[in-house]
Amino acid sequence: MSLLLKYISHFKIKDLGCENQVTLNRERHEVMTRQAPLMYAAFIINMIALLYPHWDNVPHILSLLIPGIFVTVFIHHGFMEYNNIKRHKSDEQIAQKLYSSMWESSAFAIALLVWSYLLFSYEIPMLQIQIMIFLYMTLTVFAFFLMYVLPTVVLVSVIILVPSTIYLVMTGDVVFSALSLNTMFIALTVIFLLFNQYEILTNLINQKLKLTRQKQSLVEQATKLEIMNDQNLQLANIDTLTALPNRRSFFAQLEQLTSKNTGRPTQKLVVGLMDLDGFKRINDVFGHPAGDALLVKTSQRLQDILGTDINISRLGGDEFGIIITNSCQIDDIQNIGQSICDAMRQVFHLKEGSVQIAATIGFVEYPQMAPTSQLLFERADYALCYSKQHSKGQAVIFSTEHETIIRNISNIEHQLRETDLEQELSIVFQPIIDVQTNKTSGFEALARWENPTLGQVSPDVFIGAAEQMGIIGKLTIILLRKALKAASQWPDDLYMSFNLSIYDLSSPQTVLGLISIVEKSDFPSHRIVFEITETAVMNDFKQANEALNLLKLQGAQIALDDFGTGYSSLSYVQRMPLDRLKIDRSFITDIASDKHTRNIVQTIIDLCNNLNLDCIIEGVEEPEQLSILKQMGCRYVQGYYFSKPLHHEDALKFLGPKQNINNKSAAAK
Ligand code: C2E
Ligand code: CA
Ligand code: CA
Repeated sequence: MSLLLKYISHFKIKDLGCENQVTLNRERHEVMTRQAPLMYAAFIINMIALLYPHWDNVPHILSLLIPGIFVTVFIHHGFMEYNNIKRHKSDEQIAQKLYSSMWESSAFAIALLVWSYLLFSYEIPMLQIQIMIFLYMTLTVFAFFLMYVLPTVVLVSVIILVPSTIYLVMTGDVVFSALSLNTMFIALTVIFLLFNQYEILTNLINQKLKLTRQKQSLVEQATKLEIMNDQNLQLANIDTLTALPNRRSFFAQLEQLTSKNTGRPTQKLVVGLMDLDGFKRINDVFGHPAGDALLVKTSQRLQDILGTDINISRLGGDEFGIIITNSCQIDDIQNIGQSICDAMRQVFHLKEGSVQIAATIGFVEYPQMAPTSQLLFERADYALCYSKQHSKGQAVIFSTEHETIIRNISNIEHQLRETDLEQELSIVFQPIIDVQTNKTSGFEALARWENPTLGQVSPDVFIGAAEQMGIIGKLTIILLRKALKAASQWPDDLYMSFNLSIYDLSSPQTVLGLISIVEKSDFPSHRIVFEITETAVMNDFKQANEALNLLKLQGAQIALDDFGTGYSSLSYVQRMPLDRLKIDRSFITDIASDKHTRNIVQTIIDLCNNLNLDCIIEGVEEPEQLSILKQMGCRYVQGYYFSKPLHHEDALKFLGPKQNINNKSAAAK
């Protein structure tokens, strides 16, 4: 009984919180609803089979009216259940339905029992047997059709079997007693089997639920992972400062756009690289937060100009990438470049103050000028570097001329790698004149390279190429040896100026090599001046300074070359072990026409006097320039006005017995 009550309690609404129970109820309800119409049909047929042979032998109230009511109720319920098959019901409605079906079935069982008893009391033997068969068959049909609604089955079985068995046994009829007891036993067996079935169903539902829950949690985990992956992917592709796509995303896009074209009509592309001019200065002067704010404003300005059709990325530092996918003509690219450069020149208002910078851009077209993503980047970068050197603050589009230059450089690199440099490198000497005494005070040694395939290659080109290739040290050693060998034949009062590259200073091996050559040479070290450019020193001041101090320890002097072209700070000049300072040729070109330039040169000459440095002016070509410089108090001068760089023998001739500058200096007076 307690078991029965336990099962009955399962229908109760208060148990709905339990998910297993809810699912079990839903399953039971579905089976019940699906099978109910057929069950009612079976009841009706049973009833017709019972009454058909006897309908006139008993009062019509029992053979027609009451069965008629039963049939009407069955048909009504059958239709209702049929209509309910597809209708969705809430968990509460289902529990309520199962609960009320139990009491409805019990009421029906009692009604059926009473009606059967009344028929039975007419003591028509065949009818009595048929009534028993009818009752037991109806119960069997009921039990099988509602096997999953077990409490109802048990309750109905108890209601029908217990009173009927007691009644039949009490009649004293052996057949009735045997039949009823037999039925009771079979019914108990069936109920036991149904309990087993019911347990199996419950376990199945529990397992199904467990699996569903596991599946659900797996789906949830997968969704979470997917979201995290998406977020990571986004973070990995976004520049956190400007929220623009980053370098990685830029290259992925380039790769995708260029590989998409394989086997199809090629889609045109334009790739641009933009670099800010003067950004480092803003960072140094105003600090990094100001630099960051400037980058954010730059990215906003770029987006405002270029709109959403053009892809902008921040590649790192102050470098931005641009990808234009809508086909553009050269003029359009030029216009886009111009509008970016114009916009970047406008004042930026930062918290720290108003600043002004510029932007230089290199563009390249795909596929004409660069057929792969790697070449696109390299050539846009080349155009950018080219623009930085030749037209800072402007946009340059990579062209066939640039391609020729690159090809030449790669030829040069090939020859530099393969050729006998010892044989092909030579030195020329350009005199440095003391305009006070009108005598040559020394010579600057300048490298020359004559290659059988390439002919004469400019030192600006091959020195740069050797620096890029990492073999400049090898060239410097050869050149210094040759220069010292020639210089050892000069009069004792002349010094020799020799150019060093930044890469020489940053390589301890080269510095030691230079020292060793100086030590072995016949030319005294105190007559050697090593020239270094200011940009070279600024890149790694500490290391350059250490190398320079080592060279000074050997007795050599140091000159700062091309002064005024880089971003040198006066504090660096003061902290370096300098003996001389060479004012760059670019100041001299318009010294005669530009007062502003004259003021600058005068300031540098005064600075040298104050710091006790010898000042050498480079690139004097005109007598007028020389005369202005002399008035400014300048003492040492170098330039085509006196002489172009000369071969060793010609340099000796240039010195001559009388120092042939006398005539020229007279002309300059
Ligand atoms: P630099 O050290 O500034 O050398 C001076 C350059 O100006 C030389 O060009 C010289 O011929 C040129 N020059 C001198 N006077 C005048 C003038 O009145 N007008 C004009 N237009 N030019 C004048 P060069 O020989 O072509 O050398 C170019 C650069 O190559 C040098 O500039 C230097 O930076 C580099 N270089 C030359 N030889 C060496 C070397 O042995 N080692 C290293 N590391 N660099 C070298
Ligand atoms: Ca020089
Ligand atoms: Ca120079």
